Amino acid sequence: MIGVAVLGATGSIGLSTLDVLARHPERFRVVALTAHRDVDRLEAQCLEHRPELAVLADPDAAVALARRLRGRLPGTQVLGGPEGLVVAAELPAASYVMAAIVGAAGLLPALAAVRAGKRILLANKEALVVAGQLFMDAVAHHGAQVLPIDSEHNAVFQCLPAGFGQGLERVGVARILLTASGGPFRDTPLAELSRVTPEQACAHPNWSMGRKISVDSATMMNKGLELIEACWLFGTQPERVRVVLHPQSVIHSLVQYVDGSLLAQLGNPDMRTPIAHALGWPGRLTSGVAELDLFQVARLDFRPPDLQRFPCLGLAAAAIQAGGDVPAILNAANEVAVAAFLERRIRFTDIARVVEATLSALPGAPVEGLDMLLESDARARAVAQRQVHSGGLERIRGAALGAP
Ligand code: NAD
Ligand code: MG
Repeated sequence: MIGVAVLGATGSIGLSTLDVLARHPERFRVVALTAHRDVDRLEAQCLEHRPELAVLADPDAAVALARRLRGRLPGTQVLGGPEGLVVAAELPAASYVMAAIVGAAGLLPALAAVRAGKRILLANKEALVVAGQLFMDAVAHHGAQVLPIDSEHNAVFQCLPAGFGQGLERVGVARILLTASGGPFRDTPLAELSRVTPEQACAHPNWSMGRKISVDSATMMNKGLELIEACWLFGTQPERVRVVLHPQSVIHSLVQYVDGSLLAQLGNPDMRTPIAHALGWPGRLTSGVAELDLFQVARLDFRPPDLQRFPCLGLAAAAIQAGGDVPAILNAANEVAVAAFLERRIRFTDIARVVEATLSALPGAPVEGLDMLLESDARARAVAQRQVHSGGLERIRGAALGAP
């Protein structure tokens, strides 16, 4: 029996993970479940999976959960606060850790799992965006294993030979091609983008996901974060990674080799495939995902991304080129801007403006360590909040003047 800790169990990836695990009860045991503050859902999950440990990052929510479980699940310990997430990530009974917390909040628990030498199923791309070098150095140092859950990176992993860790050039890779659907606004007239709502942004045409990554997909910041993620996971430079718009989301990514071969991984857009792949690797497990019907797909389209429509993609590419703590600043500013958009405090098109203004206000610096990165993250959040505030004022002024 392999013990699995699921961090971010109540989210989109968490639910898909529990679905795959429940298909293989002879092989996996859920030993820890964590969430932010969704007491109802975590309680239901605890009653179903009977983990050793349940953690809510919100301490008050943890008290409520402990009260509800008292006398019903004597084998389940309940912890609260961010430190509890680290305890779950380090739990001795967990050999595998699903890192599916959203945002930089997932960094410390994911890093704790790395330092404990676990197999990390990494969905939390922001951890690599914020602290890529440090994270990958820790993976090597502690003999941890990172298997990508992000569908594109999981696809690339599947298309690479076993020895790719020695360097992509040595195994004949010319380029990595990351596919992108283009999100719900890929064909929306540019003039209308400033008026799109959070509901429209979260209605992804092909994937069902959490709200933050849905907005990131709509701005294509998601692909920018994935470009950075790919550089760290596969030890390559941004020039070797190309983004291809592919509206059908059937090819999840590709690897171009020097001999002209182009390998791709295809499947229905359902995260249970990469999750089952990472749980079963190097074997294969059933996932509940239907076989792809090629006759129904019928055609596959490709086009280059439009940087005028998707300025966030350009900002992310520039951030990884700049290096140091610049990707951490980009990520923090984006988290603040996306939250503000979801709360209707700024417009959709203001997200890129807030990120760009934050990057211009803060000079990047070489990474000195984890504390320094966390400070850069905090400073960037404060600057971005100020941008959100002034952006909001401008919008209100604009509305008073009758401007769109
Ligand atoms: P989600 O919003 O649906 O779920 C997030 C989970 O993290 C929830 O369990 C929530 O309770 C928990 N959480 C949120 N904030 C927290 C905090 N401060 N402390 C502790 N826990 C917290 O998000 P999701 O769509 O499942 O995405 C999770 C991660 O996986 C993200 O990094 C995302 O980029 C990545 N990812 C998701 C998908 C997808 O299809 N959903 C695909 C690829 C990558
Ligand atoms: Mg992805």
